[in-house]
Amino acid sequence: MIGAHVERPSMLNAMFRGALERCPRCGQGHLLHHYLKMVDRCSVCGEPYGHYRTDDAAPWLTILLVGHITIPIILVCEMSFQLPLWLAFSIYLPLIAGLTLFLLPRCKGVMAAVLWAMEAEGSEKI
Ligand SMILES: [Zn+2]
Repeated sequence: MIGAHVERPSMLNAMFRGALERCPRCGQGHLLHHYLKMVDRCSVCGEPYGHYRTDDAAPWLTILLVGHITIPIILVCEMSFQLPLWLAFSIYLPLIAGLTLFLLPRCKGVMAAVLWAMEAEGSEKI
């Protein structure tokens, strides 16, 4: 199916597909490999992705989301339970680290999909 005609999805649909780490164009091929590296081309539709660079946008979005998710949880726990410091750190640090590692590739997929949908390919076009 490489090179087959696939209708261009809406920005929102492309972002959703990117969040699933799938090709924004066809939604079936993988967008990332080796955790955060962009694939050169979609294995299903052949759309090139190797030249898209999300730079700091994915970590920025990840920090934004992790902060807005974890800070209220931590504040409520601290105000309600007054956990000992060792217990608080043993809960909060794995929560923050795990959520960050989970969200980072998804945020990169979203940002890559936004660049793709806006046709903001940069100067390194293949
Ligand atoms: Zn594809």
